[in-house]
Amino acid sequence: MNIILMGLPGAGKGTQAAIIVEKLHIPHISTGDMFRAAVKEETPLGIEAKSYMDQGALVPDRVTIGIVRDRLGKDDCESGFLLDGFPRTVPQAEALDELLQDLGKEIDHVIYIEVPQQELLSRLTGRRICRNCGTTFHLQFAPPKEDGVCDRCGGPLYQREDDQEETVAKRLKINQEQTEHLIRYYTANEKLVRVDGEQPIEQVTTAILSKIRR
Ligand SMILES: [Zn+2]
Repeated sequence: MNIILMGLPGAGKGTQAAIIVEKLHIPHISTGDMFRAAVKEETPLGIEAKSYMDQGALVPDRVTIGIVRDRLGKDDCESGFLLDGFPRTVPQAEALDELLQDLGKEIDHVIYIEVPQQELLSRLTGRRICRNCGTTFHLQFAPPKEDGVCDRCGGPLYQREDDQEETVAKRLKINQEQTEHLIRYYTANEKLVRVDGEQPIEQVTTAILSKIRR
């Protein structure tokens, strides 16, 4: 089964990806891993990608798409794959459809893990770190016993700048805009499967599996 997994930051995409690939016995193909492997193996596209990354420049679509094509053409993708982090844009989605057609494949399902904005914000801004010993807490998922105090050493807890609401909201907004275009694209292709990501982890998995196995 050929799957794309989509979800905004904080939606639980990474968690679900790890569970689903194990259940379906398909490789988890994330953009980051794909790039790292291509660079490490020094494939022609890997070398080209590295030259852009070394300059801090964006890797052009032509190179990214070539790396995706190389990866999806490998033997372990024969019985399926789960794509995570690609495509990010509609042109990339169109290129993906084309390259899959060349490989004699197609996308079966695009799973979108849906979580309301307010819940994402509270998930993404809840992290607190001990200034003293570095222990991490989460106001929602792993709260300290006493507000603002480390359970382990009694040190003061702080919030990283990256986790602050303004920064997180900005990051979410950019992601949301990109995602909306992709959702429209895959809705039009009748590939989109929406799953409620506000449920407990196991229930999200169950919902995903029941929808794609139907
Ligand atoms: Zn501490």
